[in-house]
Amino acid sequence: MELPFSESYRIKTTEALKRSTKEERAAWIKEAQYNLFKLKSDAVFIDMLTDSGTGAMSNRQWAAIMTGDESYAGASSFHELKDTVKSIMGFDYFLPTHQGRAAENVLFSVLVKEGNIVPGNSHFDTTKGHIEHRKAKAVDCTIDEAFDTTIDHPFKGNLDLEKLEKVYKDYPKEQIPCCIVTVTCNSSGGQPVSIQNMKDVYALSKKYDIPVLYDSARFAENAYFIKLREEPYKDWSIKEIVAEMYQYADYATMSAKKDGVVNIGGFIGFKDEETYRQACTFSILFEGYVTYGGMSGRDMAALAVGLDENTEFDYLETRIKQVEYLGKKLMEYGVPIQYPIGGHAIFVDANKVLPNVPKEEFRAQTLGIELYLEGGVRGVEIGALLADRDPVTRENRYPKLELLRLAVARRVYTDNHMDYIAAALKNVYDRRNEITSGFNITWEAPIMRHFTIELDKA
Ligand SMILES: *Cc1c(COP(=O)(O)O)cnc(C)c1O
Repeated sequence: MELPFSESYRIKTTEALKRSTKEERAAWIKEAQYNLFKLKSDAVFIDMLTDSGTGAMSNRQWAAIMTGDESYAGASSFHELKDTVKSIMGFDYFLPTHQGRAAENVLFSVLVKEGNIVPGNSHFDTTKGHIEHRKAKAVDCTIDEAFDTTIDHPFKGNLDLEKLEKVYKDYPKEQIPCCIVTVTCNSSGGQPVSIQNMKDVYALSKKYDIPVLYDSARFAENAYFIKLREEPYKDWSIKEIVAEMYQYADYATMSAKKDGVVNIGGFIGFKDEETYRQACTFSILFEGYVTYGGMSGRDMAALAVGLDENTEFDYLETRIKQVEYLGKKLMEYGVPIQYPIGGHAIFVDANKVLPNVPKEEFRAQTLGIELYLEGGVRGVEIGALLADRDPVTRENRYPKLELLRLAVARRVYTDNHMDYIAAALKNVYDRRNEITSGFNITWEAPIMRHFTIELDKA
């Protein structure tokens, strides 16, 4: 008999989960003003809120914690991390930061000026935030296929070269500080970018003399998809693919809380010395001296090991197969999800599950609350609440996709947990026609409202 797939690690430490009753959950979510972010973590049985900073470190990473060098300047942990980034991604110049958005803050303080245009593939929220905060504009050049959850395409994170060239033709190069390639593309559902597309984007950008920046949070998951889906690379190791990917980048910003599998951390990689030198000043201003940039020595040591381990095929296969396992289970139950399944999360199409809830009463949020009530599973709304109001008209914006995201933490839950989540969502799905009303806003912040919003039953 053919041996089945099984995980490429075993478990040495455990953390107890607290079960609760439906009555308890009803009281807790009401107390939290129907905002899943406001729940205490022990009111949650299985937490699918995010895969950011929630991963389980390996025994080698925990061992590295004890070797952390906490010297203010020149720590050996800094050099370990710098050398690892050089060997994996090929960057000669490197600055650590406390997380991904801090890397954006430091690098964009050098690159992005008022009135600039920054093309890219569905910029991540904080990336867009740091661009708009500097009174510049992010232009989305993702391929159209990315916006239909039912189209099967191997690289839905790809940039559309015509859309990109239009930006390069419409604006002078002085106004375009860089092109951002997000690998994998978080905002379009953890969808990968192909090497071919990376090469094409780089060649086009060189033609117009524009640098290319990789927003790298899930670069290793992207490399795994390249190995599986892009023919010329099927026999390459993940590390070889990663090295090839970064041939076509001038800079990288990294949220190490994702593919670094650490609880906090980030960095910037540079190929040119001049930009690095300018960024050092902003690092010292915002993050810390250039050899720690907001990270402790032990965290840099654990990240160096994390980057090395998590650019190995066996780890990535276990990780991505678990996401796929959950997705396939849901598809078996008929629950409409985004296809193909991405690298870090399942996205449930709330417009299809709850069409009887008026869109003004927030379908994906309603679905998220129903799932929490059903089984104590916490997801996150990626829909109208997240989309905020139009800055000019102050009307609610209703994006094309109204999704409930179930992010899978790295090496944290077992496939039994995935079965439980799928069953809880199936139960909600089976009674979907009885769910006819959602929620109204009782208080909201002027921007990024979803984190702190207060709601009540409509
Ligand atoms: C998470 C993320 C960021 C921001 O990183 P933080 O560590 O959360 O500050 C930027 N870009 C992408 C694609 C991300 O997924």
